[in-house]
Amino acid sequence: MSRAGNGKAKGAKAGSALAEGGLIVSHYGVAVEVLFLGGERRMVRVKRNSGHVVGDSVRVTGEVLERLPRKTELRRRDARGGIHLVAANLDVLGIVVAPGSPPGFLDRAIVAARAAGLTPFVVFNKCDLPEGQTLSAELAGIYGAALHYFALSAASGAGLEPLRAFLHEGHRGAFVGSTGVGKSSLLNALCPEIDLKVREVSDHNWLGRHTTTVSTLHAIPGGGELVDTPGFRDFGLVDISSADIAEHFPGFESLEANGCRFHNCRHRQEPGCAVADLVGKGEITSERYQTYLCLLTEVEGTEEAAQKRLWKK
Ligand code: GDP
Ligand code: ZN
Repeated sequence: MSRAGNGKAKGAKAGSALAEGGLIVSHYGVAVEVLFLGGERRMVRVKRNSGHVVGDSVRVTGEVLERLPRKTELRRRDARGGIHLVAANLDVLGIVVAPGSPPGFLDRAIVAARAAGLTPFVVFNKCDLPEGQTLSAELAGIYGAALHYFALSAASGAGLEPLRAFLHEGHRGAFVGSTGVGKSSLLNALCPEIDLKVREVSDHNWLGRHTTTVSTLHAIPGGGELVDTPGFRDFGLVDISSADIAEHFPGFESLEANGCRFHNCRHRQEPGCAVADLVGKGEITSERYQTYLCLLTEVEGTEEAAQKRLWKK
């Protein structure tokens, strides 16, 4: 009779195995937490290296999880140059800077976000610091016309409201920026339930020792969602062509109208280059122009390496 009992349990499972749509909100290596359309949350086991990430839309039938096609992918690069997928289906990317942020990061991140199909916005944090106001005004002058620009202080809460209102429009995003700019402080300020969630997760003891979260999707009270991106150091400029760099580089957008002499101008040393003009007039600082050249060289290097691999085949 004990076997009949087993059979009953299995039968009950199969009977309830209707396909349910949901969203991956956390990832634990061997399992993902799925938020179903009806509001229920449940852990579903997956293969290690399943390739699923937070933000993936899924269909779950019993214990079988099927991933639906993605609209966007956000990738990061680790210290050794390896490329990792961080999250799927984000529509916006908040690039966080603060006084002392490394130069060039903002432009690099904007290009990477646009190339990946995400709309970048700029968050200037630590406005409360003495040098904050001047620096922020400078950046607003460069980026404010083409991108959403938020100057705020995550510590004091000043200036948070416009960012909240923007996210409440229903955006799903993440913050990237160098260590110490205040990404965690910003997440905590916008999603107050974050600490609570961390405690819930440790209840799932069957996850064993592998409970390190890659990233988690948090709902913002009032609307919108944010994915945290622990360990985000740098973008992998993958799937970007050298032509994309100029197209997405902030301040070069208008060049299509009053363009360069050569339609395929890389804006390096070519005669009749509109970018050289802008740099000459100081409309693009030489520092930012150097960032452009670095990005271009990096991507061209990747393209050449890919070509060489093709020839070898
Ligand atoms: P993360 O590495 O980007 O996640 O940065 P954290 O959120 O851990 O913040 C790094 C440091 O900056 C911490 O000491 C924070 O207290 C501080 N910090 C964060 N936001 C602000 C701010 O708006 N103003 C000031 N003055 N400090 C801040
Ligand atoms: Zn040019």
